[in-house]
Amino acid sequence: MTSGPKTLIEFQEMFPNEDACWAHLRAVRWPEGFECPACQHRESSWLSQRRLDQCRACRRQTSVTAGTVLHGTRVGLRIWFLAFFFLGRHKKGISALQFQRDTGVGNYQTAWTLLHKVRSALSEGTGRLLTGNVEVDESYLGVREKGLSGGRQRGKKSIVVAAVESRGRTAGALRLTTVDHVNQEQLGGFVESVIDSSRATVCTDAWPGYAGLKRRGFRHRFETQGTGDRAAELLPWVHTIFSNLKTWLRGTYHGVSKKHLDRYMQEFVYRFDRRRVEHMLFEHVIQAATAAPPLTYAQLTAERTG
Ligand SMILES: [Zn+2]
Repeated sequence: MTSGPKTLIEFQEMFPNEDACWAHLRAVRWPEGFECPACQHRESSWLSQRRLDQCRACRRQTSVTAGTVLHGTRVGLRIWFLAFFFLGRHKKGISALQFQRDTGVGNYQTAWTLLHKVRSALSEGTGRLLTGNVEVDESYLGVREKGLSGGRQRGKKSIVVAAVESRGRTAGALRLTTVDHVNQEQLGGFVESVIDSSRATVCTDAWPGYAGLKRRGFRHRFETQGTGDRAAELLPWVHTIFSNLKTWLRGTYHGVSKKHLDRYMQEFVYRFDRRRVEHMLFEHVIQAATAAPPLTYAQLTAERTG
């Protein structure tokens, strides 16, 4: 994997036009070269006007974007590549409004949809179970609600649970989720779904919601929660993460709606887990976007169930 552009100047040099982007996408999607989905023939003609590969044996036309988050896109590929660049390279990501301004893409909804499609791809491939000492805690996040205008009314709170590997002076991987209740069923269920019980010790405060972890087969260390400095001392990494998450959501997005919170959290986790390979993130994001299934605007805006 190449490291991708590190600066906007390099981006401009690597992707000066749409053709360069299409060539790069084909190389990422088909690293072994083209293979016809109908007859498995390995040679195609590139129809540059229509951006399609035509099989030289059966003449079937195939789009390199088919079955990816770029499926059927009417937005230029350079705009998508800029989204990969900003989401991968900016420590804080980018808001739809800023993206629209920076790229001149048609309207806010187009910018918003495109960024969320890329975010949805970032959730793929974070399935490794956490090991070692894992701090788990929950926090309340203020979110924007529809119909609440201005800053005076407070939206409802979302409950976010975090699990992060504590490696002493550094943190390992992170997992985040939202729950409706901080009870044993939901907190225990989350711990079970993201932590390897045979290779981890779970560290929490003394909240009764964590009381069932031993029964679920986990080594569990908990201490009575103190206040302020003491709390941060018991679970230092998880507190740092909540603080960074809140700052990020407030600063970049000025708060987000409850419905889409999960996708923003995925973006946060994606960048956090790859913070040591930051220089590779552009290529990582392209790989993720071409490996993830398409997502429609209707699916994006549908009410979350459960
Ligand atoms: Zn064919």
